[in-house]
Amino acid sequence: MALAPLSPPPSVLVVTAHPDDVDFGLAGSVAQWTKAGTHVAYCVVTDGNAGGFDPSIPRSEIPAIRRREQRAAAERVGVDAVEFLGYVDGEVSVTPSLRRDIAAMIRRYRPHTVVTQSPVRNFARIGASHPDHLAVGEATLCAVYPDARNPFAFEELAQAGLLAHTVQQVALVAYPEPTHYVDVSATLDAKLEAICAHESQLPDPDATRESVRGWLSTAAQQAGLGEGRYAELFFVFATA
Ligand SMILES: [Zn+2]
Repeated sequence: MALAPLSPPPSVLVVTAHPDDVDFGLAGSVAQWTKAGTHVAYCVVTDGNAGGFDPSIPRSEIPAIRRREQRAAAERVGVDAVEFLGYVDGEVSVTPSLRRDIAAMIRRYRPHTVVTQSPVRNFARIGASHPDHLAVGEATLCAVYPDARNPFAFEELAQAGLLAHTVQQVALVAYPEPTHYVDVSATLDAKLEAICAHESQLPDPDATRESVRGWLSTAAQQAGLGEGRYAELFFVFATA
């Protein structure tokens, strides 16, 4: 089935497991959307405290480094709202407290569209289906329906002034069979800059840039775009 172009949503909340997930997954699209006037906010579930490659960096410093890197990456694609939920990297599961925390973010930012990671494993891409990604995708869908829209779910949220909100549309990253694409040829450089803000994760930034160019070029071909184009792919469905 031919992929359809995804137009900039009116407002977006991106929910991902680790710092850098949003940049590898969709920073090119985010840059397009913020340029078009869309407000985009990020909710990052962990501090990525299991990440990195340099054993000389004390592990206790990793969470602060990764939060700082994610904020810098966000700035490069026009995003200044970055929230961290502080869960432990590598141990995320679908719990009522995670659902409540994500529902709280949905109620606070009141997005038209939520973008998150696929809760369905992609057998062709083991790295895309990190167990934290699968758990965050599932918990986010539970937060979209029913938690954020049901005024009687997690009543402490409404008591704190976070009133029910219905998300209109969800877009999943790394779902095995995407339905939509964003042509990110014009914002590829901004995406690469955002990825390279995660210095603590990149032993060889030039090699990473080359890999990302290759992935996005393959995605552009899948989307039916010509040579020299780059795309990010999504599985999009209505949730209202
Ligand atoms: Zn990740």
